[in-house]
Amino acid sequence: MDYEKELYSYIESRKEEVYDISDKVWEYAEPRFQEYKSAKLEADFLEANGFKVTRGLCGEDTAYLAEFGSGHPVVAMLGEYDALSGLSQEADVAEKKPIVEGEQGHGCGHNLLGAGPIASALAVKDYMERHGTKGTLRVYGCPAEENAGGKEFLARDGAFDDVDICMSWHPGTTNFAVDSGCLANFRKFYTFHGLSSHAAGAPHLGRSALDAVELMDVGVNYLREHMIDEARIHYAITNTGGTAPNVVQSEAQVLYAIRAPKVTDVMELAERVDNCAKGAALMTGTEVDIKHVAAYSDYVANDVIKEVVKKHMQELLPLDYTEEEVAYAQKFHEAITELDKINLKKVAEREAGKDWAKLVDMPLWNFYQKNPGKQTGSNDAGAVSYKCPFVFFFTVTSASGTPGHSWQNVAQGKGPVAHKGMLFAAKVMAATCVDFFEDPELVKAAKDEWNEVVGPDGYPDPLPKGSKPEIW
Ligand SMILES: [Zn+2]
Repeated sequence: MDYEKELYSYIESRKEEVYDISDKVWEYAEPRFQEYKSAKLEADFLEANGFKVTRGLCGEDTAYLAEFGSGHPVVAMLGEYDALSGLSQEADVAEKKPIVEGEQGHGCGHNLLGAGPIASALAVKDYMERHGTKGTLRVYGCPAEENAGGKEFLARDGAFDDVDICMSWHPGTTNFAVDSGCLANFRKFYTFHGLSSHAAGAPHLGRSALDAVELMDVGVNYLREHMIDEARIHYAITNTGGTAPNVVQSEAQVLYAIRAPKVTDVMELAERVDNCAKGAALMTGTEVDIKHVAAYSDYVANDVIKEVVKKHMQELLPLDYTEEEVAYAQKFHEAITELDKINLKKVAEREAGKDWAKLVDMPLWNFYQKNPGKQTGSNDAGAVSYKCPFVFFFTVTSASGTPGHSWQNVAQGKGPVAHKGMLFAAKVMAATCVDFFEDPELVKAAKDEWNEVVGPDGYPDPLPKGSKPEIW
């Protein structure tokens, strides 16, 4: 259709600028809540291109909001730009080669995730100006998706309250719009305080915080039998209290990740984990501080938006990969481990049944994935879906079989396949935005569905009162 062609060719005409933003953010590789250069680069660019920009949102210094137009409908896209620790990696090489050992890298492709909506917004703004379209176009720059759940704070504090339609995308190895799912997830620190003493000379005077951590973990491991199948609990001992066995450890700490399908399930389960901690404190004569630092709500897909996104994805697929791009992906496809291959085979079987082998050998999955299965990860955009009609989708930005949060992901993050997948996502979002701007009935249908499934009082507000976004 004509409007799609207009949008797509506009995006193509600005692509080099957007690749440049994505590549610079890749190089900055800033971790959660420290994405100062990345957020500034994006916000400055949008401001220079005629968007009204607000820097810092709801106590998050590295968040931004870029707006164009006024009134309803408010159609929004979400971007991210945080990197992961320990994943420094040279670009374009198919072997593990850190630039600086131990430093951050974009192992989840958030450099692309943030730049995609910018490409899209440029085209939609151009369309709105030329056609006199009514409504507000927004890009939210969202910090700290990884290990902090930045959007949950933004959602709790009202950043999305007046949004009518919202969408996001994520870099990946397949193309599909995501159904409801993603596990809700809490992060909680349990810090035990005891009394130190000489472990041989005066053991009766000591109260061991490390004992408390161990007893809490044992309690939780027994709890596993009596929780729902889909729930997951993981922990890491973040402070053992010291390395001397002949000193009773007066302080020790454990960090828990508690996951389940619905955020309300996690709220209930977390209370039982708290009780294990309190029981351990009672048994050992110690005290426990419980600090809830992050929450990820589950994700409720809006089917009306999903169908529009899916339609545009299917129209644009397959993409016209060049021989060089296929060869680039092939290089990384050959570098995946045996374990990654087993995982890839499972995904291929789900998609193609007995013809799975063809897919396993394919370096780029250049089609719409019909059977992606359930998402078992957590995504802080779930919180947004409790505040307004929302959908996110994946596009191919790396070779099939590339594991998430890996050096392979970082290596491909500035490559031609990544750029192409980002541009594809930008086109899908641009066409979807315009569909909603131009059709009030479509907006109403999405909102009616959201009102029925979630409703204005449906947000479970999982973060503790008064908690603030922080680096922990
Ligand atoms: Zn991610």
